Amino acid sequence: MSLAPFTQEHDLLRQTIAEWVAAEVTPNLAQWEDDGWFSNDVFRRAGELGFLGLAFPESAGGQGGDYWSQVVFLEELGKVSQAIAMVLSVQTDMSTPPLLKFGTERQIDRWLKPALNGELIGAIGITEPDTGSDVASIRTNAVRDGDEWILNGQKMYITNGARADFITMVVRTAPIEEADPWGGISMFIVDTSLDGFEVSQKLEKSGMKMSDTALLFMEDVRLPPDSLLGVEGEGFKQIMWELQGERLGVSVFGVAGAKAVLDEALSYACERHAFGRPIGDFQALSHRLVDMATEIEAVEALIYECCDLWNRGIYATEEVAMAKLSVGELCNKVVDEAVQTMGGAGLVEGSFISREWLGMRIGRIGGGSDEVQRQILAKTMGIG
Ligand SMILES: Cc1cc2nc3c(=O)[nH]c(=O)nc-3n(C[C@H](O)[C@H](O)[C@H](O)COP(=O)(O)OP(=O)(O)OC[C@H]3O[C@@H](n4cnc5c(N)ncnc54)[C@H](O)[C@@H]3O)c2cc1C
Repeated sequence: MSLAPFTQEHDLLRQTIAEWVAAEVTPNLAQWEDDGWFSNDVFRRAGELGFLGLAFPESAGGQGGDYWSQVVFLEELGKVSQAIAMVLSVQTDMSTPPLLKFGTERQIDRWLKPALNGELIGAIGITEPDTGSDVASIRTNAVRDGDEWILNGQKMYITNGARADFITMVVRTAPIEEADPWGGISMFIVDTSLDGFEVSQKLEKSGMKMSDTALLFMEDVRLPPDSLLGVEGEGFKQIMWELQGERLGVSVFGVAGAKAVLDEALSYACERHAFGRPIGDFQALSHRLVDMATEIEAVEALIYECCDLWNRGIYATEEVAMAKLSVGELCNKVVDEAVQTMGGAGLVEGSFISREWLGMRIGRIGGGSDEVQRQILAKTMGIG
C-alpha cells in the first residue's frame, strides 16, 4: 500500500533514474567506499540527465516537476546507498533551494543554473568546530568593507566540502545579543576559489566514506557584494527554512534505504538454512521481519504526508521534525535487526548491509539530531 500519488510520468522517471543508478552508480559503490571518494563526474552526469533540478522551475534551470519527482530521485538513490543519496541531496535539497528562494536573478544565473546542470558543486555550511546543534552560537563572521565583506572563521563536517565550488553558508554579521540570539546572522554564497578559503582537512569517518566531509578555514576572504543571499540579519530564519527541505529529503531516502535493507534480510532469511529449515521459518525471525515491515510502513506514511504538504507549499515544521526523528530511529533499528538476521554475513566488510549499517548511523545526528527534533516537538506541545 502506498499513499504517494505517483503518476505514470513519475513511474517513467523512476525507471530512467533506476537505469542510470544500476549502470553508473551501484557497480562502483564498493570501490568508492574503499577509495573514500568518487569522481565529480557523478554530479556532471546527474546534471546532464536532468536529475539535479527535477522540482526546480524551468526558468531557474530545472525540469519544472513537482516535489514527487524529487521523491522518486531520492528513493532510487536511497535504495542503493545512503552515502550517494546524501551527497546528491546536499546538491538538490540543501545548498541550492535557498538560492532559488532568496537569490536574485543574477545569483540564480551565476550559481543555481550551473549547479542544476551539474557544472558546479554546492555544499551547505552551518556547523562549526565549537557549535553544531546550537546554530545561533556560530562564530564565523563577515564584516562589511565598502560594498564587500571580509569573512573569517571555520566550518566543520561539511559534506561535499572538499570539492564544492560554492558553499551556502550562515555567518554572523552582527554581534550576538542576549535579547535576540537569532538575529545578526546572514546567509552568503561563498565562492571557494576566493583567496583565503582553504579546505583544512578531509575528515575520515567510520561510515559513508565515499562522501567527503571537510573542515574548512576562512581567513580574510573578500566576498563580493552580491555574495549576500537574501536579507542581512535574516540568515537564521533562512537556514531554518532550508532545514525543513533538508530534513524531509533525508527522511525520504532514509526510509527507502530501510526498505532495501529489509528486502536484503528477507531474501537471506528465505535462502539461509539452519537446523534443516530456512531461518525465516523460525518464528523469532519471521516476527522480527514482520515488525520491521510494519514500522517501515508507518514511517513511510508519515513521510508521504509531509511530502504532500511540502508539495502543496505548506511549511510543516512539526510533521517534518516527527518524520526526521522517526526515520533516523527506524533506519538504525531496521539495519541492526538485519545484521542480526544475517549473522556473520551481515558484518562482512564491503557487503551492502554492513556498509549501510555504518552509513545509516549519521541519520540520527546530521541535519539536526534526534534530541534537537524532540526539542522542536516539545516546544510545539508547549513544554521543554
Ligand atoms: C557525516 C556528517 C555530515 C555532515 N554534513 C554537514 C553539512 O554538510 N553541513 C553542516 O553544516 N553540517 C554537517 N554535519 C554536522 C551535523 O549537522 C552536526 O553534527 C549536528 O547538527 C550535531 O552537531 P554536533 O556534532 O556539533 O553535536 P552537538 O551539537 O555538540 O551535540 C552533541 C550531543 O548533544 C546533544 N544535544 C545538543 N543540544 C541538545 C539539547 N538542547 N537537548 C538535548 N540534547 C542536546 C545532541 O543531540 C548530540 O547528541 C554533518 C555531520 C556528519 C557527522
